[in-house]
Amino acid sequence: MQGRHPPPSTPEQHNPLAAERERATTLFRLTLSFMLVVVMTFLMVEGWRAWRDYRQAFAMAEDAVTNLAQATAQHAEDAIRQVDILTSVLAERVEGDGLQHIDVPRMHQLMVQQTRIVPQLHGLFIYDANGRWVVTDKLGTPESANNADRDYFIYHRTHTDRDVRISKVVSSRSTKELIIPVSRRLNNPDGSFAGVMLGTVRVSYFVDYYGDFKIDDKGALVLAMRNGDILVRRPFIERTIGQSLSQSEIFTRYLPWSSAGVAQVKAVVDGTQRLYGYRVLSRYPLVVEAGISRDSIIAPWRQDLIKTGLILLLLITGLVGFGIVVLKQLRARMAMETELRRVHRQVQDMALTDSLTGLGNRRRLDIVLSDEVARARRQNTCLALIMLDVDYFKRFNDRYGHSAGDECLRQVALAIGQTLPRSTDLAVRYGGEEFTVLLPDTDRAGALRVADQLLQAIRDLNIEHADHPAGRVTASAGVTVNSPRSDEVSPASMIKAADAFLYVAKHKGRDQWQAESAAQAAQDRPDGVRKNLSEF
Ligand code: GH3
Ligand code: MG
Ligand code: MG
Repeated sequence: MQGRHPPPSTPEQHNPLAAERERATTLFRLTLSFMLVVVMTFLMVEGWRAWRDYRQAFAMAEDAVTNLAQATAQHAEDAIRQVDILTSVLAERVEGDGLQHIDVPRMHQLMVQQTRIVPQLHGLFIYDANGRWVVTDKLGTPESANNADRDYFIYHRTHTDRDVRISKVVSSRSTKELIIPVSRRLNNPDGSFAGVMLGTVRVSYFVDYYGDFKIDDKGALVLAMRNGDILVRRPFIERTIGQSLSQSEIFTRYLPWSSAGVAQVKAVVDGTQRLYGYRVLSRYPLVVEAGISRDSIIAPWRQDLIKTGLILLLLITGLVGFGIVVLKQLRARMAMETELRRVHRQVQDMALTDSLTGLGNRRRLDIVLSDEVARARRQNTCLALIMLDVDYFKRFNDRYGHSAGDECLRQVALAIGQTLPRSTDLAVRYGGEEFTVLLPDTDRAGALRVADQLLQAIRDLNIEHADHPAGRVTASAGVTVNSPRSDEVSPASMIKAADAFLYVAKHKGRDQWQAESAAQAAQDRPDGVRKNLSEF
């Protein structure tokens, strides 16, 4: 039956569709890959750009804090040095004259003069060996005033070195202002302790100076002693003065190894993450730190990142949306092509099917037969063809009517189809009441056995035929088998031979098959057929 034998497929018929489908699949994959590559490229380029900008922001911030540390260090150095020089000159003079012989009014006048000239200078003081005020730039020395308790006084009394000493911030006893004491020891001619020469530096002088710098709100500027005690800090909060940085990361991890540099650390004073430039002053045991908060460094970069990120997101969304539309269309097209192919196969199948019986038609036989002849020749196998014709069918039609004739043909077709043993066998309605059965890879004995079975199956239908000597519907058959050795066989010659033997069967009385004898089969068939036919 036609279901058993799939519609013949030739490269010309199916490959264009398959190729088209292949192309669509490739296009689908290409579109997907392209989108993926574009999105990845976007992300990679933007990622690289963001990383570069991040590094750049930090590089610029490093330069800024380095310069800032340099400037504040220089400033602090200059401010202290002026007081250093001044106290050194005055001390020289006091020691030369002797502390007991100071011309107090003149010295006072000199001190007032100097204090006016040097803006950071809060005051100048001379104390005797007991800490009593000998002379100062201030008016009205408090009679009871005694500075013997001050750190620097105790230090100089107990140490003989002549260097200037910077002490931690104290509140002035004369003005209550916050001041940095800059002091040195005064000696008697015999080298014994004569007293202390003190210059005081205003903390506010530094606070004003640091306030002029344009740094972010969370930025910090610090002047501290080398031991970590804070002298001045911006932002200026009084309680931070005197706090110690000795446990801070810069003091513990950086300063021991280098006197200047850059470090990204968390501040001990306020816990803010900052990028610091630090520097130890060259002449004095002081340290400056200039820090910009990490937030302010990143903020512009982050804003930029959000902006480009949004644009990128928009772009990728657009691209993906576009891609989805394209892919959907592609998929729809592929589905349409599959449907088209199915319909095409259906139409093709219909074109090769006999509508009355459901068997294949003559066109199908033409296609399959030429394929099978070529295959039998290639594989050196037998190929059998049986042609059947219903006996006295004109009479059947005449007696029982045309539609009964059609029904009879349907039943005969069904019987033929059911009789065929293999799925590779093909039965077609050749035309009218004629049927053809093609049996690939079947030798003479097999073909004759099938012919017997076919005729018996039709007899067994037991369809009444009153105008037939047998009384029921029968058929005649012509059988031809092409042996592997015969190489002149063609589709036409096989049909011609089967038709010829069918003719013989009709003339020999119908309801039988005819085929060439085994001996004839060994010979060249067309001659054999002729010889056989010549008997009639
Ligand atoms: P023979 O035994 O020699 O084959 O005699 P026959 O009558 O069968 O042969 P013939 O070729 O003279 O007649 C064939 C008849 O088959 C002619 C036609 O009326 C009938 N026939 C052909 N096709 C159809 C069909 O599709 N339906 C019906 N009902 N009859 C058909
Ligand atoms: Mg006929
Ligand atoms: Mg007939």
